[in-house]
Amino acid sequence: MTTADLNSLAEIFPREQIVTAARQLESLSRDFYWYSPVLKRDLEHKLADVVVQAKSVGDIKRLVAFAHGRSIPVTLRGAGTGNYGQCIPTHGGIVLDLAALDRILEITSDGTAICEPAARLGAIESAARRVGWELRCYPSTVQKASVAGFCAGGSGGIGSIMWGGLRENGTVHALTIITMEAEPRELRLTGPEIFKVLHAWGTNGIIIGVELKLAPRTNWAQLAVAHDSFAKSFDFIEAIALNESFKKRLVTNFEWPLPGYFAPLQKWVPPGRALAFFEVADDQLERLTNAAVSTGGSPVFVAPFTEPRRGPQLSDYTWNHTTLWALKADPSLTYLQCGFSPSHARDQFRQIKARFGDEFLFHIEMTKWDGVVTPGSIPVVRYSTDERLQEMIRFCGEIGVGVANPHVNFLEGSGRWRPDDAKLVAKQQYDPRGLLNPGKMRGFAASLEQVPETAAAVPETTVPQ
Ligand SMILES: Cc1cc2nc3c(=O)[nH]c(=O)nc-3n(C[C@H](O)[C@H](O)[C@H](O)COP(=O)(O)OP(=O)(O)OC[C@H]3O[C@@H](n4cnc5c(N)ncnc54)[C@H](O)[C@@H]3O)c2cc1C
Repeated sequence: MTTADLNSLAEIFPREQIVTAARQLESLSRDFYWYSPVLKRDLEHKLADVVVQAKSVGDIKRLVAFAHGRSIPVTLRGAGTGNYGQCIPTHGGIVLDLAALDRILEITSDGTAICEPAARLGAIESAARRVGWELRCYPSTVQKASVAGFCAGGSGGIGSIMWGGLRENGTVHALTIITMEAEPRELRLTGPEIFKVLHAWGTNGIIIGVELKLAPRTNWAQLAVAHDSFAKSFDFIEAIALNESFKKRLVTNFEWPLPGYFAPLQKWVPPGRALAFFEVADDQLERLTNAAVSTGGSPVFVAPFTEPRRGPQLSDYTWNHTTLWALKADPSLTYLQCGFSPSHARDQFRQIKARFGDEFLFHIEMTKWDGVVTPGSIPVVRYSTDERLQEMIRFCGEIGVGVANPHVNFLEGSGRWRPDDAKLVAKQQYDPRGLLNPGKMRGFAASLEQVPETAAAVPETTVPQ
């Protein structure tokens, strides 16, 4: 941006809504991209020219008019907890920080949360629980993450064993967006239309409102079970995941040494053993504990339901938090996002261990994708070179393990591209100049010449995040 651009911006927004101080500019241009040594190397010098902190939808519209008129890139930011540099402004320009638009407008009596874009998921969960509802699924960053950031950047999490990914079962009921056009439009997308913008990394519309369908509230209890081997632990979590009579929100396991990285839990984590974490309905805790013991498992942590929940939760060590704890202990570690086969995961585990040994550490998140209970996985892997990382990804593909590659910074490479190109079509319609988060949708520039008219909804492949 030129000095003239910055001066003009200062005429539109009050001083306190414009950030140019170097340190703040840097922190508001970053997310958790450094989980990936590849992205850390490639993105660490990318910075916004300026951050604008919107306080109202009016601010967003003014910013769109300004940026569109001058062809300045705009990258949207919720809480900045994404993993792949999703909200890093790789082409500079403006970061539009939406954190102040964080109101929960209503929890309706039929179980819908209607929110501003940066309402915190943790706040939505608390508000919903007070009136008999709860989130169907949420990321392990629940306390910090924004609802629009989850819709634009996330995929699922705690609760996905019951409700599937965020894109399933109509969980995202509606998204209201503002387009990046000379005359910005405000559109409310529902039904299959939400797939245009869902998990599109803010490349094709600014989400200003989210309507999420909720689940009836359950009183959840927590249990951790140790087994002598990963194989026995996996047998147990798979049996519980498949057993429909258990109401559960979390079914996770880790091979040793991953539990050894959970520093605050070391007072009860038994060294050398595989560990499984569960959240089940409180009145099923005893049945689950007995089932664990009958398979040779040792219940090592039991927390019956209390509300409000106190202290750290087991879920703080699951999903991509597992990677965070491992990275804290050993910075040479990184991760992949995999989907093992529901029918022959054990054979895939065996082949991976035979090839990569302790370079590849299993962390399983049992999930229900498209109605099928699936061993999703966020394995922790040792990084040595880009080539070795690619070899792991290639090998997974060869033996039928799906990988959503977390070491790339563009949508099509990340494993969640839709075969119907709905996101691309939406970008052509809602951001024809390509100003929203440029560079993240590679197909856009190449496709400017051919604009299909409509986009049918086809489910995309999903593995956990
Ligand atoms: C430790 C850790 C654990 C995690 N666990 C999970 C997990 O369990 N499940 C999961 O799905 N993810 C997980 N994530 C990723 C991330 O935390 C979630 O996806 C989270 O919901 C992102 O929300 P955010 O507000 O931080 O989004 P941001 O990082 O701010 O943004 C994410 C993307 O959305 C875009 N965006 C933000 N706001 C808008 C808007 N209003 N309109 C349009 N686009 C917008 C941004 O440009 C960016 O591309 C994890 C990350 C970390 C670091």
